[in-house]
Amino acid sequence: MEEMAREPWTATVLSLFPEMFPGPLGLSLAGRALEDGIWSLNAVDIRGFAPGKHRSVDDSPFGGGAGMVMRPDVLDAAIRGTPGPGPLVYMTPRGRLLDQALVRELAAGPGVKVLCGRFEGVDQRVLDAHQAIEVSAGDFVLSGGEPAALIMLDAIVRLLPGVIGKEESLVEESFEWGLLEYPHYTRPQSWEGREVPEVLLSGHHEKIRAWRKRQAEEITRRRRPDLWDRYTQPLK
Ligand code: SAH
Repeated sequence: MEEMAREPWTATVLSLFPEMFPGPLGLSLAGRALEDGIWSLNAVDIRGFAPGKHRSVDDSPFGGGAGMVMRPDVLDAAIRGTPGPGPLVYMTPRGRLLDQALVRELAAGPGVKVLCGRFEGVDQRVLDAHQAIEVSAGDFVLSGGEPAALIMLDAIVRLLPGVIGKEESLVEESFEWGLLEYPHYTRPQSWEGREVPEVLLSGHHEKIRAWRKRQAEEITRRRRPDLWDRYTQPLK
């Protein structure tokens, strides 16, 4: 049976360094999916929307202080002038922490428009005017939003239908059940005096499943009490 051609999931990236894209997303799984038309990428230079000979995109902050702020008029022109489906996402350390739930939500939509900041960040008014969703890659400060956008897009693209072959490889992963992943082992069976856990060689699928679940629970409880609390008290 012939497959109906599906509209590709579309990433539209606004950046002062569009040449950072697709970067690592042009290789391996994401790269193949890009070639196959499962997703598409349009990385646009914000500077192209700056007026005047100097094409200045930033200015000093009202109220004083260090650093420069990206201008709302330039960003607005870039956002309006670059069509693309989905919500506007601004990458920023003060945003909602990126997690698998948000990744799944964005993967289920038609795409995202990602605004990558540089310098001290962007003028607040352009975020308000476009009702941007603010998303953080983690509790650390990057020099720009681009690496954060690459992380978010990588996590989204691997969930798109057809990107990862075997369904199981998605289902049993960290976070999908609210638990961190159990440990993996492969050949050689004995390596530098270290053995593979006996149960994994038993061929007893039910025992293996139970062992892996116990491992995942133990690792989550010890390393991530926050995830463990949510797992054991999901309605709290
Ligand atoms: N003054 C800002 C940091 C600016 S870093 C602050 O204190 O929050 C420059 C740009 O990098 C920001 O505009 C933002 O777009 C991006 N950025 C930095 N860290 C990030 C993170 N953890 N997640 C997402 N984007 C980040």
